[in-house]
Amino acid sequence: MKDPRTLEKVVSDQLIPWAAQSIYKSLNQAVIPHVVIVVNDEHFPNAQDEWDHHKSTEKYLTSLETPFENDPNLRSVVGALEPEVAPNIKTHADFLKNFYSSVIFVNIPRKAYLMRMDQQLATAYEVIKKRSSESYQRKDELGVLFKAERLERVFTAVFEHFSEEPDKPFNFLMDLLWQSHIPGDLDDNLFTFFRTFQGAVKPVESENLQHNAPQLFPLMTQILSSYIFLDSERNSNHVLSKSLRNYNYGPALRKAFEKFCETVLHCAFESKTGDARCCNVKANHGEKDHQGVDGKSLGKGNFRFAPKFDPSTFFEEWVNQIRKKLDNFQTELEEETKKTEEAALVEIAVKAHRRRLVEFLSNVDIASFLNIISVSVVCATACLST
Ligand SMILES: [Zn+2]
Repeated sequence: MKDPRTLEKVVSDQLIPWAAQSIYKSLNQAVIPHVVIVVNDEHFPNAQDEWDHHKSTEKYLTSLETPFENDPNLRSVVGALEPEVAPNIKTHADFLKNFYSSVIFVNIPRKAYLMRMDQQLATAYEVIKKRSSESYQRKDELGVLFKAERLERVFTAVFEHFSEEPDKPFNFLMDLLWQSHIPGDLDDNLFTFFRTFQGAVKPVESENLQHNAPQLFPLMTQILSSYIFLDSERNSNHVLSKSLRNYNYGPALRKAFEKFCETVLHCAFESKTGDARCCNVKANHGEKDHQGVDGKSLGKGNFRFAPKFDPSTFFEEWVNQIRKKLDNFQTELEEETKKTEEAALVEIAVKAHRRRLVEFLSNVDIASFLNIISVSVVCATACLST
């Protein structure tokens, strides 16, 4: 590269504004991009090291350790960062390291050096392949890898989102969730039920409970216990149903709860002023900053649950509450049966379940609940009833 300023200009005009847009215009983006910079038309007749991409990367990053104070593009990007993040960014190189998962430079020689060109292009290809496969791997691990048949729909959703609301960040998670297939297993159904209830729960004393698991889940204890109870009464001998309930439903409840904590519950990080909370979830928090609903960075750091909320302890306590409810329902049912000897156990259980359902629906915003009832409650009911 003849003029070292050229690289600074590419960083300032292209690489950083693009990365900042990409990061802050999306929520729950599982991985941030890698960058591979191919420098053309290089001429190092005697310097073997220059063709080694590890060494050339080190060299270019050192040359980019230059201040950016006079650069209006970069000043505006750093100005939008949280006070605790901004002081760590002092040079052009810091920008690259902050906004990309990795930075690699590969030198490509002038036209005359055909053998060398061949080698360097092969290196560039290998580097791109390796980084792509790392991103692919990570998305796969997090369960957010877009399959080919879904990719088209995701592109359409992104296009529609930015055509209507260009300033609002696109939330990968929301669209992923609601475009997913109708669930098939009990844990999938329970998860959809949690998700549906979360979307429709009414605020309590004007506090929104959607991401407050310790308050949200107890509101579902009664109705879930009732579904489980009715289902086990319908499908098994009354005497055996107690042990079958634990065996059949415990693992599915745990799986659905863990999935909810991983993929739905927002990170509990709040801005210093307390008026913005991070909207990224545990599975997709990854290397990104804490981000508010507007996509802006609230600070650097990993996902965190609310203080005093430990998912596994909470789950054990919650399942114990469900067990207690089931025992109560069992006692109630037996007492009720003594009074009305004519009626079958299941009939009495159905009546009791209807009463509990009416009570449960008073806790939700019916309009939102009905909107999604066809894919959630019906599935959950169908699954619990088969
Ligand atoms: Zn966060």
